[in-house]
This record gives sequence, C-alpha cells and structure tokens, in this order.
Amino acid sequence: MALEGKPVADRILKEVKEGVEELGFSPGLAIVRVGDDPASKVYVSSKIKRAEEAGIKGTEHHLPETATEAELLELVHQLNIDSSVHGFIVQLPLPPQINAEKVLEFIYPEKDVDGLHPLNLGKLVAGDPHFVPATPLGVMEMLSHYKIETAGKNAVVVGRSNMVGKPMSALLLNANATVETCHSRTKDLAEHTRRAEILVVAVGKPKLITGEMVREGAAVIDVGINRIEGKLAGDVDFETVSKKARVSPVPGGVGKLTVACLMKNVLKAAQEKK
Ligand code: NDP
Repeated sequence: MALEGKPVADRILKEVKEGVEELGFSPGLAIVRVGDDPASKVYVSSKIKRAEEAGIKGTEHHLPETATEAELLELVHQLNIDSSVHGFIVQLPLPPQINAEKVLEFIYPEKDVDGLHPLNLGKLVAGDPHFVPATPLGVMEMLSHYKIETAGKNAVVVGRSNMVGKPMSALLLNANATVETCHSRTKDLAEHTRRAEILVVAVGKPKLITGEMVREGAAVIDVGINRIEGKLAGDVDFETVSKKARVSPVPGGVGKLTVACLMKNVLKAAQEKK
C-alpha cells in the first residue's frame, strides 16, 4: 500500500483552518523570494495558495537576482518588526552573493516558521523542539497517520542537510527510534538501508534506492524531488521497492505535507502572539 500524502495533508490543513477560526484573526505569513529560480516560484505560489485556503494571509516579497545581502537583511529586519507578520520564510536557494546562514540567523526565532534558525535547530536536537522544519515534520505526521511505530525501530535517514536529513534524524531519535544517518561519504549504503524498518530518503538522486536495498515490510518515505523530462520523480525506485515495502509516492507523498506543516507552524506562531 502506498503512503499517500493527501489524506494526511487534508487533515492537517483542516485542523489549521479550525485553529485560525478559533484565533479570531488571520495570521500573516510572508515569503521572501530572491531571484528567478523556477522551482522556487512554483513552491512559493503553492504555499500562498494553501495559506489563503487555511485563512492565513500570505504575502510574497520578491527581490531581483542581483539583490545584495544588505538589501535582503533590511527586508528581513522589516518583517521581524512588522506585527502583522506572525511568521515568515526566506525561500532557498539564495543567489551566490548572499550568505544564507547569515540571513537565517537574522530572522527572529519566534517568527522562524521554517525552523532553520540555529536556536530552533538546537532546541530540536536538545529534545525540546519549538519550530521544526516542515518537511521532516510532515514525515513524522505521515508515520503517525499510517500508525507506523517509531519507538525501538531501526530508522535510517539518507541525507544530512539542515533542512531535511539532520532534523529528520533528530525527530526520529526524539521519538525513540534507533537512528543512523547516511550521506555521500557512507560506505556501502545498501548495507545500512537494508537494516531499516523506517527508511527516509532525502538526497535528490533519482532511483538511488532500489528494491534490493530495502528490507521486506519496511516503511519507505521518499522526500526526493527530481525533474526528469518535465516529470517529477523521487529518490526511490517505486516499482521495485513497492513490491516489498510501503512507499510514499512522488508526486503525491511528502510534498503536500511540507506545505501543510508550514501552515501548522504559522498557526503556532500566531497562537503564541495572541
Ligand atoms: P541537499 O542537496 O542539501 O542534501 C542532499 C544530501 O544527500 C546530502 O547530505 C548529501 O551528502 C546526500 N547525498 C548525496 N549523494 C548521496 C549518495 N549517493 N548517497 C547517500 N547520500 C548522498 O538536499 P536537501 O536535503 O535540501 O533535499 C534533498 C531532496 O529532497 C532533494 O531532492 C529536494 O528537492 C527534496 N526536498 C523535498 C521537499 C519536499 O517537500 N518533498 C522539501 C525539501 C527538499 P553530503 O552531506 O555528504 O553532501
């Protein structure tokens, strides 16, 4: 059985909408986009659309590809002090003249709904999470929705980015799984992935994980998004892996959950400001 994202995302968005109605005001989400990355443009419009559906006021701020770091920091400062903005994100990647770490550190942690500020990442690792990056949060929602137990399970995360792999490993560890984190320097990846009862793959390489690399009966969450001849594909070879394991499809899996969990974080930021 495929681990579909839609029923999970629909439930989360419904809960967010109800939470917004209870608040009595419309939370403000600002999204900063710098440059002309086509994928970022699509992601940002889908986030704004979902925000509006949930009763959240989404606003895009677009800076040109040539924007300087100082210009972006000034915009971040304005959003930090704007009381109508409850949470905001700076869409990554940023053009090379801008130091992304510096920008992320400049965001007030209480408005950091992407959970990428070092304070929020640190709280997660310390086992006291506040804002957690939306994609790994979505994976945890998926595991819980499909009643996939984490405690005592062998979990393997392939990928160690700050946005997905590292927070994913921390969340699974906090949920009492025994966690291994693999990356590009891991020797014999298959030896690790075959041990996984829960396997989360966030690399960005199509068909990296094939049937013979997966344990029978495992839950496999494919975070990867690759564009091949105009079509989306994940990191997992769905055809061979789905014969022995439950797999989240791409598209239709984690992607929908990322946007829903971002809205969950915006609601949380607004509830805390009430
Ligand atoms: P990054 O490029 O930041 O990280 C990729 C990770 O994969 C790195 O840790 C890298 O290792 C590791 N890696 C690369 N090659 C291999 C290999 N052959 N074997 C094992 N590990 C390898 O990507 P992100 O974490 O930002 O994103 C990962 C994927 O998830 C992408 O396809 C992205 O598009 C997708 N994504 C999907 C989202 C969604 O909503 N569904 C949201 C965010 C991302 P090392 O650290 O050693 O370089």
